[in-house]
Amino acid sequence: MTDAGREAEAGKPIGYVALTFDDGPNANTSALLAALRSCGVRATLFNTGDNASSDPSLVAAEAAAGMWIGNHSFSHPHMLTLSSDEMRDELARTQSAIQAGGGGTPRLFRPPFGETDGRLESVAASLGLLDMTWDVDSEDWNGAGTEAIVAAADRLQDGGVMLMHDRYATTIAAIPKIVANLTRRGLRPGMIDPATGRAIAPRA
Ligand SMILES: [Zn+2]
Repeated sequence: MTDAGREAEAGKPIGYVALTFDDGPNANTSALLAALRSCGVRATLFNTGDNASSDPSLVAAEAAAGMWIGNHSFSHPHMLTLSSDEMRDELARTQSAIQAGGGGTPRLFRPPFGETDGRLESVAASLGLLDMTWDVDSEDWNGAGTEAIVAAADRLQDGGVMLMHDRYATTIAAIPKIVANLTRRGLRPGMIDPATGRAIAPRA
């Protein structure tokens, strides 16, 4: 047995990973929160400002369920086509929309489509946001079924971050199996360190 297996067997977490869900809040958010809560885990939800301002009560529900809320731009554009002022506007309006919904002040920004560069990172940093993507892509946006999403999570290592979306029933259905498999491997869903973008034990 590996050292990792031995520690996992002893019930002690050997590491943390971050489950992330982009593009909400939306009509599936309540089902997502119920699935996460029934597994006793917390996740990072990257909201768009457009969706957050459309239904601020869902932002409040995310916060009340113990989730961490990140910034995913306002209108989900291809950010690199924008001027720096337009980038700033996308991010600042989203910070305001999430704050207005009771979601706190995000420290993390996930660029739509994972498209980023140094200019966008600088704009994000000027608003107190760490620009970050992911280590493992569930491919749920690309038609992956529940089993494929569960299998993707098996690639997560200590500190790793996984990309998912809350609009797919297939993704929500994968959550219990993902959590069970992580637990067996000694990994526990945690928060994302806003200084490093890596998954760590929850601090708050
Ligand atoms: Zn997105």
